[in-house]
Amino acid sequence: MNYNQILVEIYQEISLYAGVGEPATYIPELCKVDPDSYGICLRTMRGTEYFMGDSDVRFSIQSISKVFSMAMGFSFEGEKLWRRIGVEPSGSAFNSIIQLEIEKGIPRNPLINAGALVMTDVLLSHLENPEEEYLEFVRRLSGTTDIQYNERIAASEREHGYLNAAIANMLKYYGNIKNDIERVLMFYFRQCSIMMSCRELSRAFVPFADHSHAFRFGNVSLTSSQVKRMNAIMQTCGFYDEAGEFSFLVGLPGKSGVGGGIAAICPRKYAVAVWSPRLNKKGNSVMGMKALELLTTKTEVSIF
Ligand code: GLU
Repeated sequence: MNYNQILVEIYQEISLYAGVGEPATYIPELCKVDPDSYGICLRTMRGTEYFMGDSDVRFSIQSISKVFSMAMGFSFEGEKLWRRIGVEPSGSAFNSIIQLEIEKGIPRNPLINAGALVMTDVLLSHLENPEEEYLEFVRRLSGTTDIQYNERIAASEREHGYLNAAIANMLKYYGNIKNDIERVLMFYFRQCSIMMSCRELSRAFVPFADHSHAFRFGNVSLTSSQVKRMNAIMQTCGFYDEAGEFSFLVGLPGKSGVGGGIAAICPRKYAVAVWSPRLNKKGNSVMGMKALELLTTKTEVSIF
């Protein structure tokens, strides 16, 4: 497969969408990036990397971190995790609170905010030094030693995070958060603030693309069946209320974030990460979605 050529063609075709959409404004610090940045990196199972544009520029991974949190939580808790968090697509916005009340404090899935807040609570109950151990896991996954939280972005989100605070309070009311709410929120915002480039993200997602190999990174280990389940959750829940659309247009498991990043995997073939900060109304990167749609169309390979 001539991935280099395909990435060039994709870049030419998505330039039609340059300037469409807006970066997330509800986290003021997130707006301090060039909205017209674009980077992509595809890493095959053999370790060959194909990249273009701003593929080495670090950006705030935001909700892509929910995949890392899910991997840790699933490793520590096993099946009993799913008593506290569901595995159904939500069909609602990532920060919706309505469903949570109707369903009595059990979030629909780990990839919406409510689910990630419960997952963060699970991690706090298991880890001695949560922030350090989380970072250590992400560093090991991506083979990078200097990945960091962006404290300015985390603080900016805390300052404006009224809705997430409301969700956390409701979870606590229903008994689905055990630790202090403020502690949960701050750890959650730090996870979202992690800065990674497309090259680092694509490396970090390769282990999820190949569940025939043991998934063991420090104190986090998953069986092949657990990795398969994580893929299923990414496929059905990874794109907010646009998960169906992403499945329809792209056909790969993945996760997006309001920083404009998307990481996706083609099982047993590659992991890919794309970044472009302008988002559509649902909070997904306009050029990122289009780039991945073109990738699976041009390669004629997806999970379907
Ligand atoms: N930190 C963001 C929030 O909680 C993450 C949203 C996202 O990327 O989907 O609102």
